[in-house]
Amino acid sequence: MSKLKKNLRKRLNRRRRLLRLSRLQPNGKISQSRQGRLSGFSEPIFTYTSLLCFDRADMFSKSSAAIESASWKKGEPVPYAALCQTFEQIESTTKRLQILDYLVKFLISVIKLSPESLLTVIYLSINKLCPEYEGLELGIGESLLMKAIAESTGREMKKIKADYAEIGDLGIIAMSSRSNQPTMFKPKALTIPHVFKTLKDIASLSGNSSQKQKVDKIKLLLVSCRNKEAKYLMRSLEGKLRIGLAERTVVVALAQAIVLSRPDIKKMSKEKLQVELENAASVVKSVYSELPCYDLIVPALLKADIDGLKETCKLTPGIPLKPMLAHPTKALSDILDRFENIAFTCEYKYDGERAQIHKLEDESMRIYSRNSENMSAKYPDVMERLGKFAKPDTKSFVLDCEAVAWDREQKCILPFQVLSTRKRKDVKEEDIKVQVCIFAFDLLYLNGESLLREPLTKRREALVDHFNEVNGEFAFAKSMNSTQIEDIQTFLDQSVVDNCEGLMVKTLNGAEATYEPSKRSRNWLKVKKDYLSGVGDSIDLVVIGAYAGRGKRTGVYGGYLLACYDPDREEYQSICKIGTGFSEQDLEIHYKELKEHVIPEPKSYYALGEGNKPDVWFAPVRVWEIKCADLSVSPVYKAAVGIVDSTKGISLRFPRFVRVRDDKSPENATSSEQIAEMYNDQKLNTVKNDTSLGVDMDFDY
Ligand code: ATP
Repeated sequence: MSKLKKNLRKRLNRRRRLLRLSRLQPNGKISQSRQGRLSGFSEPIFTYTSLLCFDRADMFSKSSAAIESASWKKGEPVPYAALCQTFEQIESTTKRLQILDYLVKFLISVIKLSPESLLTVIYLSINKLCPEYEGLELGIGESLLMKAIAESTGREMKKIKADYAEIGDLGIIAMSSRSNQPTMFKPKALTIPHVFKTLKDIASLSGNSSQKQKVDKIKLLLVSCRNKEAKYLMRSLEGKLRIGLAERTVVVALAQAIVLSRPDIKKMSKEKLQVELENAASVVKSVYSELPCYDLIVPALLKADIDGLKETCKLTPGIPLKPMLAHPTKALSDILDRFENIAFTCEYKYDGERAQIHKLEDESMRIYSRNSENMSAKYPDVMERLGKFAKPDTKSFVLDCEAVAWDREQKCILPFQVLSTRKRKDVKEEDIKVQVCIFAFDLLYLNGESLLREPLTKRREALVDHFNEVNGEFAFAKSMNSTQIEDIQTFLDQSVVDNCEGLMVKTLNGAEATYEPSKRSRNWLKVKKDYLSGVGDSIDLVVIGAYAGRGKRTGVYGGYLLACYDPDREEYQSICKIGTGFSEQDLEIHYKELKEHVIPEPKSYYALGEGNKPDVWFAPVRVWEIKCADLSVSPVYKAAVGIVDSTKGISLRFPRFVRVRDDKSPENATSSEQIAEMYNDQKLNTVKNDTSLGVDMDFDY
């Protein structure tokens, strides 16, 4: 099938899905601003969805105009003001295509006039300083930022605090504080390279006097800010831009800007240009999920264009790729429905922590988490033993595994709760009490070659051929091939007896069985042991508030307010209160830990219903795994508002706490799109519960 046809078919399928979903709306409507997002349902999680109705015919002339009207000249560093102006335009709209247009135009100017700044512009647009796995993060505490504003503007700290309590946005406060301040000399205008370098320096500072040094550096930036610059600078420092610019939009904009900067597009037909733009976006997204490193991708794009990108930027040991994820199922029969006439295999779903193990050509090894965090220091014992798992001819590799707590005496797997007691930092091998066994379920790279496009059967063969099982230390995931539902049920029961969470069911052969980085693929299904109850899968939510405990819970928090995350709007949306599933010990631990994160007011990026009034608010730091009976439309909560209903959100009924998810950052919590998808699936699969009352299920604490 030609590329054009494939693209058309893809778009048609998206439109069909959109229609199917629109039929499911209680009011039969989808809000305009959400349509682009909806069309991406069940697609790769790292996808951009609004290429429907795409028209860029006049883009070239617009881009020439953008360059002519750029506020700087060729070869000069990009002014920070130019980026802030683009942020302002983006913030002024919720239309995804409009946002994309603004960013594309700005990126074209950068590519044409100051290409050496493109990488830093991309980092500032996604509010990061380096690849995730390097772990350098912004996110300076509010009090430090308030201090910097006070000292640089001469305003009293108590006034700034009062403004913050009222406005809740340090960006706006910094901006208005600055404009009240008379200046004798006009300071030099800020440039992108200077701002980025200073932000990096600030994030790298540590040690005793680092707080003061940070404040000093922020002050120096603040006094040079003009117009809206202080607003976006503060928000960058806080760690949240809140302009509605999702990273996936930045990736698409980058791809499109590269294409539109080429001189040959002048002669291209509208149709050809459209295909080129869609192809570019899909190539850059796919390369990014395999090699999530703009430091490599951006220079390669500038040098080799889109066509050369796949050749130059490939899976590389030492750079963690975004892991493939699975779709939840509710019944074993879902498996047979999905995999009718397709060869599949069932594997134990181990209940531990995902571990991506890399061996580089230089013999060094690394272990990365599901979040691409370097966990090598958490597992010095595993690092020590890794060498003996690989056969002598296995020089470099990337393994996908689960690290599971292991009882050496009984020779059996221990529950996840045991693994979670293992220290995460400064682990000394001699102090380790919880032993782990590594269960390898995939091999993604071997001796200089990527295996991502090989089917699972081949990857498994290579895994078994190149590694040795070592008792209680390293094993291949237990698997079983059968299409008989009784066999699958028996294997599932056995997995539970063996302390696993259930099964992973995966396609074995052909193009449907390749490894799809970052995708929540339907080629991997997860079957959890308690899939028959509740919504089929647990949900990972962010703790944003708490209620004072009464009765037996006096002295600790009695219940909590939880939220899901909307990456497009960059906001946490309230979803339920929870007071069930906690042991007394859990309540003590959560209280001790979360009271350190109390904030005076809810963050401006918390989307809350009128009745969401906990006794204390928390900064978004903790993710909890939650189970519930079902989901219902609710006027009280804001989760997925605008997707299923234009004004009401979705709420969880009878939520109960399962465990803390240390391996997920708040932005990796279950997204509003996933919540909407679960709600719609529930409506498809079951007779709809009577949710018309939208009752907020209260709890007993
Ligand atoms: P999600 O983001 O899909 O909600 P999650 O991190 O919450 O993912 P689960 O829903 O429990 O995790 O399921 C996927 C996880 O199961 C994988 O990330 C991996 O850590 C774990 N796992 C255990 N055994 C296997 C296996 N045999 N194959 C693949 N993954 C496995």
